[in-house]
Amino acid sequence: MSDTPRPSNFIRNIIQEDLAAGRNDGRLMTRFPPEPNGYLHIGHAKAICLNFGLAGEFKGLCNLRFDDTNPAKESMEYVESIQESVSWLGFSWDERLYFASDYFERLYHWAEELIHKGLAYVDDQSAEEIRASRGTLTEPGRESPHRNRSPQENLELFRRMKAGEFPDGSRVLRAKIDMAAPNINMRDPALYRIIRDTPHYRRGREWKIYPMYDFTQPLSDAIEGVTHSLCTLEFEDHRPLYDWVIENLSTPSRPHQYEFARLNLQYTVMSKRKLSELVRDGHVEGWDDPRLPTVSGMRRRGFTPAAIRDFCERIGITKKDASIEMSLLENSVREDLDRTAPRAMGVLRPLKVVITNYPEGQMEEFEAPNHPRNPQLGTRLLPFSRELYIEADDFMEEAPRKFHRLKPDGEVRLRFAYIIRCQEVIKDGSGQVVELRCSYDPDTRSGLPGAERKVKGTIHWVSAPHGVRARVRLYDRLFTVPNPGGDKQRDFKELLNPNSRVVLEDCRLEPALAEAAPEERFQFERLGYFCADRREHGREQPVFNRTVTLRDSWAKLEQQARGG
Ligand code: ATP
Ligand code: MG
Repeated sequence: MSDTPRPSNFIRNIIQEDLAAGRNDGRLMTRFPPEPNGYLHIGHAKAICLNFGLAGEFKGLCNLRFDDTNPAKESMEYVESIQESVSWLGFSWDERLYFASDYFERLYHWAEELIHKGLAYVDDQSAEEIRASRGTLTEPGRESPHRNRSPQENLELFRRMKAGEFPDGSRVLRAKIDMAAPNINMRDPALYRIIRDTPHYRRGREWKIYPMYDFTQPLSDAIEGVTHSLCTLEFEDHRPLYDWVIENLSTPSRPHQYEFARLNLQYTVMSKRKLSELVRDGHVEGWDDPRLPTVSGMRRRGFTPAAIRDFCERIGITKKDASIEMSLLENSVREDLDRTAPRAMGVLRPLKVVITNYPEGQMEEFEAPNHPRNPQLGTRLLPFSRELYIEADDFMEEAPRKFHRLKPDGEVRLRFAYIIRCQEVIKDGSGQVVELRCSYDPDTRSGLPGAERKVKGTIHWVSAPHGVRARVRLYDRLFTVPNPGGDKQRDFKELLNPNSRVVLEDCRLEPALAEAAPEERFQFERLGYFCADRREHGREQPVFNRTVTLRDSWAKLEQQARGG
């Protein structure tokens, strides 16, 4: 991880130059400005890592600011979940927690300042009419019939808007810039709209008018003293308006906006609208469903904050939109968990094995390292007895020659224990294999001098009387195609992967796993990484989520699909 070169980040270069040149009095301040209208996702994580990361790197500050100017969609639930996600990712805003809704008074005064200067007017046109008169990329817009109202008249109307005299949508305050500007964002953009009857989750019914994003962002940045205001590329065309607002008002500081490419991730969707549709229609079980790319979903799935930060660092910061492969994220997760997760034995689809020459009632314990390369993680004792479970697909009755696991009259090593030989296959009435009768070779006990007789296969197992029964959920990609949001012919919900979640109720885990704390992560040997469910796991009912498999099984499928 540490040996991968640091990928490009042009914003880091800009900041380094600014600091070296002593701009902004040598200060660096960034901010992360989420709207509390949904849960954060991996794209937000990229913006969080960038803003908080740069501030940390250059001894600057990073604010957490809620951009809460739309009462229809925002709530305290979202504010809380966003704070939880930012902290969990490993970042701290300390006391620098801000809300744009706390700035409403100051923003309002600045709006009056623009009106006084003849730089803003109240337009009585409907949203339709305003849209229709905006022009196109090749044609200039048409000026509103209300554009040349006197500052006095504008002021009076704006105050009446604020007082709640007019219904929603009947008027807006617009900047008076240039209806022929080549950049459509500069054609008298709206600065305030009326939202009279929807209470705001923090300000209640106090405000009847709400500032627009393009007015709120630059002024909030200026209030806080933000030096580098980082946002995604779709706001590049808004930058002239950002600068116009700052230049025409007496603000306490002069922030600058820089844009970077947003993160798009394959096999998932990221827009809050699509995510909330999946939640609302019950395609997933809430915002923290382990299949979602939300921070809380990834957390529940077992991803680590370190892995997500590593992924965000690896993809870099550029000005070119790209779609990142899911395997890149999964590889960051695998690498981190390979280093940090203790190993454990778990059998997902159990097949009973009876060791006929092992005395009934006898039990012994094998000491097993918790991590193959990190002795600091210690060891544990694995109980072994006459009755065990092995993974059903580690046995094959009609096995091909290359099958090195268990087959009739074949031998296999039980990891950390003995070599066993399959003597008899027991089936039920329908021909289903229900039990294997095996013998063990007492001279092959792992760790004994001379006991390491070689057999080709080693499999995992759990002692039947000692193991705990668990529910294990196997998660896979939520969609079957790389770009589910990009197909204009089909609703993205038709492209859901029907096998994105498989629930196994009768898994058997080594006993120590019943004591696992919620969110504790393990590698189940030979199977993958698993995490004790944050909400449902408990000693009475162990519940584990599969975070990721040991290898990238999709890479192979994709190669096959390409005919490779
Ligand atoms: P969405 O488009 O998913 O609904 P949004 O951009 O409306 O998200 P905000 O709450 O406004 O969500 O986003 C807060 C910050 O996160 C913004 O600065 C935005 O640029 C950044 N951000 C949002 N999505 C991404 C993404 N996919 N990649 C990088 N940054 C993102
Ligand atoms: Mg937004």
